Amino acid sequence: MSQPDSQAPTTYLQVALPVPFRRLFDYHTPHRWNGQPLQPGIRVKVSFGNRQLIGVLISTTHQSDWPANKLKPVLELIDEQPLIPPELLKLCQWTAKYYHHSLGETLQVALPAVLRQGKTAGYGTATKYSAAAADQDQTIALSRAPKQLAAYKALLEHPSGLTLAGLKGLGIASHIIQGLRQKQLIIAVEAREPATAKPWPNSLLRQPALSLNPAQQQAVTKVSQLLGQFCCFLLQGVTGSGKTEVYLQIIEACLKQKRQALVLIPEIGLTPQTLQRFQARFSVPIATLHSNLTDLERWQAWQAAASGQAGIVIGTRSAIFTPLAKPGVIIIDEEHDGSFKQQDNLRYSARDVAVYRANQLQTPIVLGSATPALESLYNAAMGRYQKLELPDRAGDAKPPAINMLDLKGKPLSDGLALDLQPLIASHLTKGNQVLVFINRRGFAPTLICHECGWLSDCSHCDAHLTLHRYPPLLRCHHCGIEESIPTLCPQCQQNSLHPVGTGTERCEATLSQWFPETELVRIDRDTTQRKNAMQELLEKIHQEKPAILLGTQMLAKGHHFPKVSLVVVVDADSGLFSADFRGVEKLAQLLTQVAGRAGRAATEGEVIIQTHQPDHKMLQRLQAGLYGELTQSLLKERQGLSLPPFGYMVLLRAESPHQQKAEALLNEACQEVQQTEVTASLLSSVEVLGPLPAPMEKRQGRFRYQLVLHARQRQPLHQLTHMLIQCLENNKLSRQVRWSVDVDPQDMG
Ligand code: ADP
Ligand code: ZN
Ligand code: ZN
Repeated sequence: MSQPDSQAPTTYLQVALPVPFRRLFDYHTPHRWNGQPLQPGIRVKVSFGNRQLIGVLISTTHQSDWPANKLKPVLELIDEQPLIPPELLKLCQWTAKYYHHSLGETLQVALPAVLRQGKTAGYGTATKYSAAAADQDQTIALSRAPKQLAAYKALLEHPSGLTLAGLKGLGIASHIIQGLRQKQLIIAVEAREPATAKPWPNSLLRQPALSLNPAQQQAVTKVSQLLGQFCCFLLQGVTGSGKTEVYLQIIEACLKQKRQALVLIPEIGLTPQTLQRFQARFSVPIATLHSNLTDLERWQAWQAAASGQAGIVIGTRSAIFTPLAKPGVIIIDEEHDGSFKQQDNLRYSARDVAVYRANQLQTPIVLGSATPALESLYNAAMGRYQKLELPDRAGDAKPPAINMLDLKGKPLSDGLALDLQPLIASHLTKGNQVLVFINRRGFAPTLICHECGWLSDCSHCDAHLTLHRYPPLLRCHHCGIEESIPTLCPQCQQNSLHPVGTGTERCEATLSQWFPETELVRIDRDTTQRKNAMQELLEKIHQEKPAILLGTQMLAKGHHFPKVSLVVVVDADSGLFSADFRGVEKLAQLLTQVAGRAGRAATEGEVIIQTHQPDHKMLQRLQAGLYGELTQSLLKERQGLSLPPFGYMVLLRAESPHQQKAEALLNEACQEVQQTEVTASLLSSVEVLGPLPAPMEKRQGRFRYQLVLHARQRQPLHQLTHMLIQCLENNKLSRQVRWSVDVDPQDMG
């Protein structure tokens, strides 16, 4: 508790702060530091400009790049023990580096809100008070305040600190403590109760496991044998092949070894069934982490995982940053799903971070999907991942028959071929359900004037306004702006406005006309906004009465609807000619997943794909159930162009209400970087495209430009990215233009 020895070198604290700058900030030790340990991972309060921020201590050093007299002291050390375990801190550091993002902001993504706000008191933590280091005998200074003096003396006798309850026990009231605090004679730290995990119940299972078919058994055995070491498995199982059962039994093996399982799924709200299957099977506590939790719930789940209380942690994307007391296995379900990649702020792929983390933790990781991403298939082909296959549907279910419905010359009603009516009727009269899939919500994608060609365009975006009927309005799906529907054309004043194209609401009109007596469940973003709405709609479906399920991709993912015997894909064509190099891959995944909703139980399934291109190679391969063959040919195409996974990409984006500023910022950074010698050699191995306008040039009133970096090797790509970022950060325009870095971009728009 003495003043640091004047001979000892000065200690500086290097702190990660929630600001965009990609560096740490140096501070002096706190004003009346009592020698409390400075462990990486504790939170600190500091002043930054004219604000106070909560940061995380990353390291200490005796040398600062900044003059000592320019540095401020840390205002407060918040935690007694590191809040972020070393392993998690390391993961965040790697993530920040790989995605070229600020570490402080990366920690913001990783930590629950209550921790970011700096308070955890009342959340299973207690504030502990201890006497601050004093440069003179404070007993004299306090001689006129006998109660404060008594409290101060008591604190000196308890160097490890006292909680308010402890102080109360000694007859010291909290206002006395506040008085001492104002005089800066005591310091407060947050002490967490040591993690006390109750042991798990002896019988881990609530419900017996299913007996596995040989392929499932092999998958479970291979993974279970490697618990305790790193290995990445790609579990490719056709839809309905029982992947979930494989996960459940791997987790059982893991729990038996007293280790925890971390499971990532695309969206909990969409598939509450998945969570229910885990809860029904296991009697160990399960912690769930997703975006619909209150701050308190999230913090509790985080602690349950960190203490080892939870045997299983299930969550969406950001759950990959959950601390685990005894990690045993990581499972990523639907690993190809786009939701694992965050599209703003820290643009990370939770799947890729998960593979890194499994390696760091020395645990196996299982990436499961019926339609793996090309990246994962390629990694398996290269021997980096071990492939496990489930070629057949589980139980008695058969793969569905896929047929093309050639739309050429066919009469349509709101986008549905008239031939569909008797077909749907035949399935419904057998007591089955029919799923109609169209990946566009609203009534129609746009409104056009038949006289003058006027289109309902958004004034803030390069996009059309979508026509909605319930409630009736025009809405932009990119910026959210809403306008009333004009009765006459705003341009030529004629009464000649017509909807173009079909969305879910328009399909609904025809289907309810065809089948007025049948229950119609529409699932899209508009019908599921209300809390619990999705759950209620799914419950209707699970009553298993004849019904038509109509919806967007929200219906395509991961659901198990045993009564669905017919799936109709309304429009396969719009995705076939996408400008994005991943367009065909994504369409193939989506169509395979939708088709996979048919015939998952005893009822045989049938899939109808409406198209004007029945001979398109991709559709032909899907029809033959050849996702593998399709991906082979897509991989060949990518190889020819060195596109991922044969090459790597980084996208630098800039956007501004002033068109020329966004472009100028990227241009200036490019020019500056070319002037240095190092980059001259880098530029021979990294291709720089742009700056070019983004495919949707204007969005939400901002003009968007992008620079695409493309290389065969990661190393020069990351090096050039780093140098460009430095130029961007130092450019004056960077304060007026929003810009961002996207490593391994999924969406090129
Ligand atoms: P996937 O996740 O691969 O789409 P699921 O795990 O949802 O498949 O399994 C589809 C259905 O098959 C579920 O109803 C599941 O209970 C059942 N099932 C899975 N494995 C078996 C098995 N070994 N024996 C019998 N039924 C099984
Ligand atoms: Zn007109
Ligand atoms: Zn808009």
